[in-house]
Amino acid sequence: MQKHYFKEGLIGGDWVTGIRLHVDAGGLISKLETDVKPAKGEAAHGTVLPAMPNLHSHAFQRAFAGLAEFRAPGQSDFWNWRNAMYHFAAYMTPEAVEVIASALYIEMLKAGYSAVGEFHYLHNSHVDQALAMSRAIITAAEQTGMALTHLPVLYQMADFGGVPANKGQAPFLHEDDEYGRLLKILRPRLTGRHKLGLCFHSLRAVPQAAFAPAISAMNELDDKAPIHIHIAEQMREVDACVKATGKRPVEWLLANQQVDARWCLIHATHVNEAEWRGIAERGAVVGLCPTTEANLGDGIFPAAEYLAAGGCFGIGSDSHISIDPREELRLLEYGQRLTRHARTVLTAADGGHTGEYLWRQAAMGGARALGQPIGEIAVGKRADLIVLDRTSPTFAASAYGQVVDAFVFAGQPNPVSDVMVAGEWVVTCGKHAKEDEVFANYNDLVGRIAAKMEDM
Ligand SMILES: [Zn+2]
Repeated sequence: MQKHYFKEGLIGGDWVTGIRLHVDAGGLISKLETDVKPAKGEAAHGTVLPAMPNLHSHAFQRAFAGLAEFRAPGQSDFWNWRNAMYHFAAYMTPEAVEVIASALYIEMLKAGYSAVGEFHYLHNSHVDQALAMSRAIITAAEQTGMALTHLPVLYQMADFGGVPANKGQAPFLHEDDEYGRLLKILRPRLTGRHKLGLCFHSLRAVPQAAFAPAISAMNELDDKAPIHIHIAEQMREVDACVKATGKRPVEWLLANQQVDARWCLIHATHVNEAEWRGIAERGAVVGLCPTTEANLGDGIFPAAEYLAAGGCFGIGSDSHISIDPREELRLLEYGQRLTRHARTVLTAADGGHTGEYLWRQAAMGGARALGQPIGEIAVGKRADLIVLDRTSPTFAASAYGQVVDAFVFAGQPNPVSDVMVAGEWVVTCGKHAKEDEVFANYNDLVGRIAAKMEDM
């Protein structure tokens, strides 16, 4: 049993002072005291908030971020970007993935994320190679302290209508029975703060007949495990889905799968009212990745209407063009402001603080999407939390209700000083214990890959 004292923090929706958390051996909060003074000699940490779950990551893309910001003659769109990304993915080995994911997870922890949903499609095909790739991700999480929801991806075709995968997609493929075997082998590896989930790449990459066997393979292992899918990121895929099935992607999913709170719909960007209402009614989580969606020119999700209807969402850093939960939330809100010519759009129905509302909602929605007991500081939840440096100029004028608003909208430089995952301090005074070594390995590896790519 450990005890941790904080001067102040956000507990549920309330600001309280004098907080002492009792954390059990499993990293769960077993008792929560408020309005108490520190005991003699007890360290008093600063301002505590729930840490943020990152519900959508393709770890290897961290090393590709920033390499596709050049416009060749002709149109530059998502599909050109994807071809360049496939070219880069061909250089990924299990060793490379471990080095990149380790550096990425440290960057995430320092930014205030404590758990990640790794939407992992780099399998290199056969089960033994796929296992080596998954192990690289699990090792990266274990050695950095990041909590992982590992989501091995089922990917079987290039497009609707059974179009065979192209050369760039070959490393992503699985036969149905191989996928079930992979889940079975991985399940015992993912315990404690790590979890296994089910993942369909997208409706364009998974034949309709493959859904049921994959879901029953997962249910045999864990019938509450989260289920993720990329759903409606680009209008081209919406149009192709309508052509192939007569339905839009979210419409098809709601009609043909038992979508419920286990499901996380990544990039539900292009939805009509019946679709966003349907998602909200089922209690599924919409996985939004605003910086990646902006970078790729995807579009803007109707967040204001969806949240007003009680919809649940979380955020992800996806392609890692940004690794900062505050930037995701800020851009989510700014997209709404720019299209509506309004301010403070995303708040509770009766108004309130935008930054605080977004942080709390994304933390709770992300926790649901990852199937992890986090997202709130409460008895029974895991002790995943961040401590803000209230002496940062960011907070000079902030009263309690404004602290998270200032953090989200004006927190420059990053005022996260300490981060705890499952009761363990993984970042202290802005530093991760392994960062020097891990970042040096990363720079060396990525430099070598870049040199190889230039030689091609
Ligand atoms: Zn993605």
